[in-house]
Amino acid sequence: MEVLVIGAGLAGVTSAWYLAQAGCKVTVVDRQPGPGLETSFANGGQISVSHPEPWANPSAPATVLRWLGRKDAPLLFRFRADAAQWRWAASFLRECLPGRTARNTTAIANLASYSRRELRALRTATGLEYEAGEGGILHLFESSREFAHVPAKLKVLENLGIRGCILDPDQTIALEPALTTLRPRLAGALHGMDDETGNAHLFCKALTEKAQAAGVRFLFNTSVQAFDMIRGRINGVRVLDSDHRAGVLRADAFVVAAGSYSPQLLQALGEKLPIYPVKGYSITVPIVDMERAPQLSLTDEARRVVCSRLGKHLRVAGTAELNGYNLSPDPARSAAIVAWLEDHLPGVADVAQAEHWCGLRPATPSNVPLIGHTRIDNLFLNTGHGTLGWTLACGSGHAIADIITGRVPEPAFPFRGLISAFS
Ligand SMILES: Cc1cc2nc3c(=O)[nH]c(=O)nc-3n(C[C@H](O)[C@H](O)[C@H](O)COP(=O)(O)OP(=O)(O)OC[C@H]3O[C@@H](n4cnc5c(N)ncnc54)[C@H](O)[C@@H]3O)c2cc1C
Repeated sequence: MEVLVIGAGLAGVTSAWYLAQAGCKVTVVDRQPGPGLETSFANGGQISVSHPEPWANPSAPATVLRWLGRKDAPLLFRFRADAAQWRWAASFLRECLPGRTARNTTAIANLASYSRRELRALRTATGLEYEAGEGGILHLFESSREFAHVPAKLKVLENLGIRGCILDPDQTIALEPALTTLRPRLAGALHGMDDETGNAHLFCKALTEKAQAAGVRFLFNTSVQAFDMIRGRINGVRVLDSDHRAGVLRADAFVVAAGSYSPQLLQALGEKLPIYPVKGYSITVPIVDMERAPQLSLTDEARRVVCSRLGKHLRVAGTAELNGYNLSPDPARSAAIVAWLEDHLPGVADVAQAEHWCGLRPATPSNVPLIGHTRIDNLFLNTGHGTLGWTLACGSGHAIADIITGRVPEPAFPFRGLISAFS
């Protein structure tokens, strides 16, 4: 079977890899000059299995209201005259109901655990190098009130088969001495022992090379403009290359893995995807004091900031802003991330040399990605991974390859168009 994958980010490259492993003849098309150059470029670097709870949870409405009007708010709705944004916000509120949150958390946890296993298997099988770290994630709490909820959070994780360990401040510093200066403010931490880190862009590049060696064709600088349909099926995609030369690419099946731009692509086909771009920021900063740099990845639960060591750099990422497809950086939001680094790990990295970046998370209101069938027989989705596209990449790629080749994907998850415990 010939399969065309649209998008060479984390979702597209992993889809292509697992489809090729399943015996398909695969072509990947992307408008960028290489893989992983949009949202998969400089994310927080966390394989965060220990954080399956979506932003849409019972505490979110009060938190968003508290942050309203603050330019550096970790989660910021900039309301626009944009019906898609209002629809998304209304669905987000619905997903904050306790029953919905529990269901979404379980779905994400199942896919995340599977995805981490698949990532490890892939690493073992291929020797892929992408600045991977296996020390886990420390979720830090500076407020005793917040920390008091951690045992209940851990119970939820353990019920989902995810290992964690609660640490008091001394145990936290013993495990991660880089946090010594934070000791007086620290209430404690939750250690997600099975979590990992890695450079998503390097991963996309390395896996693309392996996939090319396995026969996958990549067409970069090529933008998909529209789908051609014959008798209710997709017959091909119309493309334009960077010299404005038009062409048509044909295949038996098509996978949309175009991140935040997936809804636009499918609009003309009458498929309405509940995906809205949620902008986030990161800085990548050279480490100047290797001894004092953290080995473990860090998550500041209150400020929604994450920090990962990637080789000789620290990647600090966070903030979420609903402001359409606007990719221009807001200096106040970048400054909040720089300030976090200087405050929490003073002198460890040279912020004067920070590389600033922002990207658009392809977010569904529930944070549950859209994986599986569409109403069109030979058109499939692997998109909408929101805050967890790196965590869920390998599992999602393997699952969509299973679905297209007629196998039942392993995890219990609400795959579109499949009957499962979640349907
Ligand atoms: C600040 C920030 C921090 C994050 N931190 C983490 C983290 O620590 N852990 C985690 O798990 N996740 C994290 N994420 C989320 C994660 O990065 C995303 O979910 C993931 O990158 C989405 O991958 P994707 O392949 O769906 O989209 P993308 O990487 O955006 O890929 C889509 C591809 O489709 C191509 N494309 C789009 N339209 C067309 C078209 N018409 N024709 C041709 N090509 C097209 C684009 O060029 C692009 O390459 C973070 C995100 C941000 C913004």
